[in-house]
Amino acid sequence: MTRDSISKNALKVLDRLHQSGYASYLVGGGVRDALLDKNPKDFDVATDASPDEVRSLFRNSRIIGRRFRLVHVVFGRDIVEVATFRADHDSGTGGEVGRDGRILRDNVFGSIEDDARRRDFTVNALYYNIEDNSVVDFVSGIADLESGIFRLLGDPVQRCEEDPVRVLRAARLSAKLNFTVEAETHSAMLNTAPLLSLTPPARMFEEMLKLFQGGYAVASYKKLVEYDLLRYIFPQTAERLTAKLTDESESQTSKEEEFILAGLTNTDARVQNEQPITPAYLLAFMIWEGVYRNALERVERSEQPVEALINAADQLLPVQQKSTAVPKRFSIPMREIWTMQPRLEQMSGTRALSLMENRRFRAAYDFLCLRAEFDEALVDCASWWTEVQELAHDEQIEFVSSKPVVVANWGEVQKKKRRGRKFSRHRRGKPQNS
Ligand code: ATP
Ligand code: MG
Repeated sequence: MTRDSISKNALKVLDRLHQSGYASYLVGGGVRDALLDKNPKDFDVATDASPDEVRSLFRNSRIIGRRFRLVHVVFGRDIVEVATFRADHDSGTGGEVGRDGRILRDNVFGSIEDDARRRDFTVNALYYNIEDNSVVDFVSGIADLESGIFRLLGDPVQRCEEDPVRVLRAARLSAKLNFTVEAETHSAMLNTAPLLSLTPPARMFEEMLKLFQGGYAVASYKKLVEYDLLRYIFPQTAERLTAKLTDESESQTSKEEEFILAGLTNTDARVQNEQPITPAYLLAFMIWEGVYRNALERVERSEQPVEALINAADQLLPVQQKSTAVPKRFSIPMREIWTMQPRLEQMSGTRALSLMENRRFRAAYDFLCLRAEFDEALVDCASWWTEVQELAHDEQIEFVSSKPVVVANWGEVQKKKRRGRKFSRHRRGKPQNS
């Protein structure tokens, strides 16, 4: 491994620590990915300097964390995380383990070898020494890296019990690296997975973002399904996808899964192309089907579509929040993406243009296009919006007045309802689109 695979900022931190007489190593995913010729996502530094000593070396730094006291060295939007070598929680004071075996506090300082052993997986416990460019390996991590094996350090069951999120990390990282999960690690994961339901929902939310926004969402999703872990992150979605009651619901199930996979494929492509992504959109499609079905039932019972979606979300989101705590800054735009759907489907004339001014329009339009991939009835409507966006403003006005929006699903439901009440003698079919 050479300095070339390390970011400029991480090198600055490594060099300053080294020049100040401290041990200075790159560790974790940065080393692992660099050795695999993958682009490391972030760089973590390990040192024998205490957090306070690190803090005083870098003006642009701050101490963070309670469970782990770490130093963040901040370079604009880039952050290099510096951690002091730590020992296992039960080999000194400063650690705290809860009754169920979970680590609550983990601030026992130790040697570099102690530090390696308390890490999660062998391939994550490799240390690149800035002093001589060597890679230090206490745990046969290089051998596992070379044979593509993903293995927990220490006793796998105990390591999963003390931090069940390691189960998700194993799924995520083995998916990303395309590694085989070693047999004992695998069975420990399956046996301890139920402990994930005790993990604080805020941490689950963070881990969910890493699973689905790290550029390997499709691979992660497949691993989660394979290991039956989706239920701890998206309980309602997982329940629908695993319920195979009748033939009809089975085909519905696979359609929902295809919809999710299309959304995830799109997310991966955006990460790959360095386009912006947002958890609001991710959540919008991961849990859409349940909200949609619930809302359609409400519309059948005479609620207005937008109101029905709001009520459906109010009814279903509390369950989701118990698994992953979604901050308001994401759940609010997510709901806006949903509630814009019926409006996108029924708008006509100049009111349509004002919809385009809505700050959530772009995401809602993307969402409509995603839905249209799986719903014939939405295709015309989605292409109407595609077309109108390509026009100049004055052309748009002409376009909307000459070509009303096709009324798609929500309108159909309402029409059906009216027909049911024999108010309407109109023949079935779409309104004219010319
Ligand atoms: P990536 O950044 O690509 O998602 P990573 O392995 O670098 O993967 P981070 O969350 O950045 O993951 O963690 C950095 C390192 O800290 C890991 O490689 C591992 O050595 C250690 N680590 C992280 N989480 C845990 C954990 N729950 N238990 C033990 N060690 C952990
Ligand atoms: Mg990392």
